[in-house]
Amino acid sequence: MAGSHESATPLLSLRGVWREYPAGDGTIAALRELDLDIAAGEMVAIVGQSGSGKSTLMNVLGCLDQPTRGRYTIAGREVASLAPDELAALRREHFGFVFQRYHLLSDLTAQGNVEMPAVYAGSARAERQERARTLLQRLGMADRLGHVPGKLSGGQQQRVSIARALMNGGEVILADEPTGALDSASGAEVMRILAELHAQGHTVILVTHDMGVARHARRIVEIKDGVIVADSGRPAEHAAPTVPRTEVQRGRGAWLDGLREALHMALLAMNAHRLRTLLTMLGIIIGIASVVSVVALGEGSRRKVLADISSIGTNTVEVFSGQGFGDPRSARIQTLRPADADALAEQGFVDSVTPNVQTSLTARFGNVDASASVSGVGDQYFRVKGLKLADGTAFGADAIERYAQVAVIDDNTRQKLFPTTEPVGQVIFLGSMPVTVIGVTAKKDSAFGPNSESLNVFVPYTTAMRRLIGQGYLRSITVRVADHAPMAAAAQGIGQLLEQRHGRVDFYVLNTDSIRQTIESTTRTLTLLIASIAVISLVVGGIGVMNIMLVSVTERTAEIGVRMAVGARRRDIQQQFLIEAVLVCLLGGALGIASALAFGAVFSRFSQDFSLAFSPLAMLAAFGCATLIGVVFGWLPARNASRLDPVEALARD
Ligand code: ADP
Ligand code: MG
Repeated sequence: MAGSHESATPLLSLRGVWREYPAGDGTIAALRELDLDIAAGEMVAIVGQSGSGKSTLMNVLGCLDQPTRGRYTIAGREVASLAPDELAALRREHFGFVFQRYHLLSDLTAQGNVEMPAVYAGSARAERQERARTLLQRLGMADRLGHVPGKLSGGQQQRVSIARALMNGGEVILADEPTGALDSASGAEVMRILAELHAQGHTVILVTHDMGVARHARRIVEIKDGVIVADSGRPAEHAAPTVPRTEVQRGRGAWLDGLREALHMALLAMNAHRLRTLLTMLGIIIGIASVVSVVALGEGSRRKVLADISSIGTNTVEVFSGQGFGDPRSARIQTLRPADADALAEQGFVDSVTPNVQTSLTARFGNVDASASVSGVGDQYFRVKGLKLADGTAFGADAIERYAQVAVIDDNTRQKLFPTTEPVGQVIFLGSMPVTVIGVTAKKDSAFGPNSESLNVFVPYTTAMRRLIGQGYLRSITVRVADHAPMAAAAQGIGQLLEQRHGRVDFYVLNTDSIRQTIESTTRTLTLLIASIAVISLVVGGIGVMNIMLVSVTERTAEIGVRMAVGARRRDIQQQFLIEAVLVCLLGGALGIASALAFGAVFSRFSQDFSLAFSPLAMLAAFGCATLIGVVFGWLPARNASRLDPVEALARD
């Protein structure tokens, strides 16, 4: 194919070529032991009846198909030894196909169709557009550049396909019944163009069953049942110059440009099947939306819990009698005493301490009564628990010493007992004991400690122990650790001190830090669990994408054939379908994230308590996930597409 072509070596040479198709148990031969030489610059018409093997011959010549047996050489190069991508390169750079049915891509404009071979050749965008325009203008299509094939007449479509054949140079034009579907005027026009191209030095090989058309060629080869029965031979005066090789310049950024074109095609294809694309995406949308919102929900609830805990103080340690929660002996252990609390208060790492005793009593004011949880606590209780007073004051150390009959009530108790009156200064009855309300705690929404339902009344622990319960030991001691002290060391110090005082370990120490850790790990586990269910839905979505992509490959087999005929490599085809799959998934991912955000917005309108916490990282991960699904599940269909045999793909209409 080089410019230094010797007239001794024909450009195209077939020797003893067979092409057999499997038929039933045996095979039928479309080409039988065929010998044919075609020199550069010739115009050859191959004629014969329908079914004689003309198209088969044409496909073999154009490297769309391979002989079953025999040798085919192009400028001395053995075709059988070439890999699929090398064949694609031959088609792309040396051949131009013109088909009876034009085989234009219906989604692309005339100009887009003409540009396609150059896209695969990697020529620069501006250059390519310019050349496509020039070619179409030369063929009298200047005013039809932006028309899609559906808007063009047959003759016009055939002119577009000739322009496409010339895009990369088109040294050898292979035209299979180019006038077969045209009226005689358009047919004559197409033949005029082909003859002109021949005059310019293009090698033109033309298949027809019409002798009138064949007469345009200097050389006529007649084929019958796969055998050449007549060949007018090469005219002696034949010395037409060959077209100078148009060296295709790979433009800079050709790869990026190819990607761009593939993206464009993917969008066109998705647009052509909007409903189907949307339904395909649905699986991805639901999957991504649930992953993102579940993670946000988990994060939201974790933050809520942590906020609750820090409101009771992450730095408190609670000491109980017994070996742990639910220890049956703990009721009999009476060793936890107010003196223990006093001893703890002396420690350097302790900020404040409160003894606790607890009982349930009926609280009554006037003729309203309600069951209340009565806590006997120390004067530092409110500091330890981080409780603020909304009204009045808390009791001090003197009230503890005097066994004072005073109480601080919480907001629930105020609402229950004092719906209209101001509580501070009023006397209420706890069981039979009258106490004066001196303070009301501020409302506080926390899942722990004084909670939203029960009524809580706080009295000095001395008062509670002597006058209400009649016991000398404590239920628990709560210690608030100084801000600078490490929790673990403080908890250990408390344990050691008490063990020393009691002579044994008849108590257990609970710190909120470990509670927090437990809760965090629980939410983590739950989030993980629900997220893994969402991941399953993503996988199902991915399978849906794969399914549709497989259908799409089947539907677009003819398109793939055309692309291969104009020189698309396997990886070009693979890339195109992969990009489409990834795009579907990415778009699904974006819609999924959008619906998760919408869900979050709706959710926060109905729940003041806590809101979903969306993290940008989770969304980024969702996008990554969607891409991965596209790649994983798009891979097989894309591979199937790229492995199609060009001639078989073209045959399917
Ligand atoms: P023409 O183009 O001259 O009409 P073809 O080359 O299309 O003839 O076909 C030549 C012979 O090969 C016919 O008998 C046809 O039935 C057979 N043939 C062509 N393509 C195939 C195929 N893909 N599978 C089986 N037989 C085929
Ligand atoms: Mg045919």
